[in-house]
Amino acid sequence: MSGFPRWATDSIAAVIGPLVGRYIRAQRDRLALTATPLSEISKLRLRQHFSDDDLERVRVALANPLPIPDPPFYPLFRWLRLDIPEPSLVDAITFDYVIAAREPMGLPLLFHEMVHVVQYRRLGVKAFARLYVKGFFAAGGYHGIPLERCALEMEERFLTAMEPFDVEAEVLKWNERGLL
Ligand SMILES: [Zn+2]
Repeated sequence: MSGFPRWATDSIAAVIGPLVGRYIRAQRDRLALTATPLSEISKLRLRQHFSDDDLERVRVALANPLPIPDPPFYPLFRWLRLDIPEPSLVDAITFDYVIAAREPMGLPLLFHEMVHVVQYRRLGVKAFARLYVKGFFAAGGYHGIPLERCALEMEERFLTAMEPFDVEAEVLKWNERGLL
């Protein structure tokens, strides 16, 4: 599927964004009840890229399959034949500061989800949800969503660059340039 035009993505995001935001908050609050903090070794490995505050407040919920219902708008998405994975079948998915994963995450995947945690904190759940929906429809699929491309790019950089970098500063750069 190719992307929708800008006027359409803004309208769609204005309508569906708040529903997605409500869905995200509901999953966060439910999963947070059983989620656990990062291990000390994970915190140690990520401390050159993330603030102590973020590493302390994030929570991880492990379950296979993930106990996550499809969002209420999924029948519409399927009807539109949109390329979107089922939340319960992805390796990991992040709702604000709660990362849900089917199996213990390797460092690259944890890093990727932590980038989303930073995006959520800087943007707020409401704006994150709106941008995610807008990006999804503009790109015509999950893989072109700018919030995802941002996280993927930093995950790549984490794996290849020798020098540590500040994820929050990078997220802010993307946001200030209007790339999210
Ligand atoms: Zn992602």
